[in-house]
Amino acid sequence: MSAPIIRPLAELRALIRDWKSRGETIGVVPTMGALHEGHLSLVRAARTSCDRVIVTLFVNPRQFNSSEDFAKYPRTEHADAALLGPLGVDALFVPDGDEVYPPGHATVISVSGVTEPLEGQHRPGHFDGVATVVTLLFNMTQADRAFFGEKDWQQLQLVRRLVQDLKMPVEIVPCPCVRDEDGLALSSRNQRLSPEGRSRAAALPRALFEAARKIEAGEPVEATLTAAAAELEAAGITPVEYLELRDGDTLEAPQAGRATRLLVAAWLDGVRLIDNVAVNLP
Ligand code: AMP
Repeated sequence: MSAPIIRPLAELRALIRDWKSRGETIGVVPTMGALHEGHLSLVRAARTSCDRVIVTLFVNPRQFNSSEDFAKYPRTEHADAALLGPLGVDALFVPDGDEVYPPGHATVISVSGVTEPLEGQHRPGHFDGVATVVTLLFNMTQADRAFFGEKDWQQLQLVRRLVQDLKMPVEIVPCPCVRDEDGLALSSRNQRLSPEGRSRAAALPRALFEAARKIEAGEPVEATLTAAAAELEAAGITPVEYLELRDGDTLEAPQAGRATRLLVAAWLDGVRLIDNVAVNLP
């Protein structure tokens, strides 16, 4: 059986009132649909720690940098509902764009600092769109816990900052990145790779993990990253927008003794791929 699709906010609110009146906890998994095992791992995590699970499906126009990318984003709502049914999802909330952003909507949530480098540099306005929609989704679902993938590392740090700064009563639960057998991080956008591109895409996680291993072994960071970027370009994964070592929480320059992350964004077949991995500095 498919998960029940709920569209009007009033209908979702009626369910939530009922659940809360019985003291049940609510977990939310925000998504843009075209669900894969990465999303499902978040749903399973929610299922094990919350009485009720809401998955939201909203392709948020405000976080896209081009109308073409927005138009091309895969939309598979009924297949998504079918995947979620067996996992025991209580509601697949698919709000209309007009209900999320009705005429006259004028509020933008903007988080500084953590959003500024990397994705922030290459996707102007993207994180304002994310922060705004995440705030709206938290307000609409009134969830006690929200589950986010480490696949989108910078986004996860943005959400943590947002919740802390605005004292939102929701616990953010990070979930590990789920990868295909060849190491490629699962992503709805992978569907747009050609078969040939898909087979070349494994070079991205390979170069990323190899660079992380070398840095952990004490090889010089700059030279290692330059060589890894050249390897990606040679594999046809080009342009490489960034390949950088950063502090895992603040996304500022890495510091000894703190959790560090190596993050990458690069293009293949007209598809923008992002990935990241933990690095233990020697
Ligand atoms: P999206 O539908 O791409 O906006 O992603 C919705 C949520 O699923 C976000 O919290 C993502 O970080 C998470 N997610 C996407 N891909 C993966 C993956 N491969 N592994 C774990 N989580 C993921």
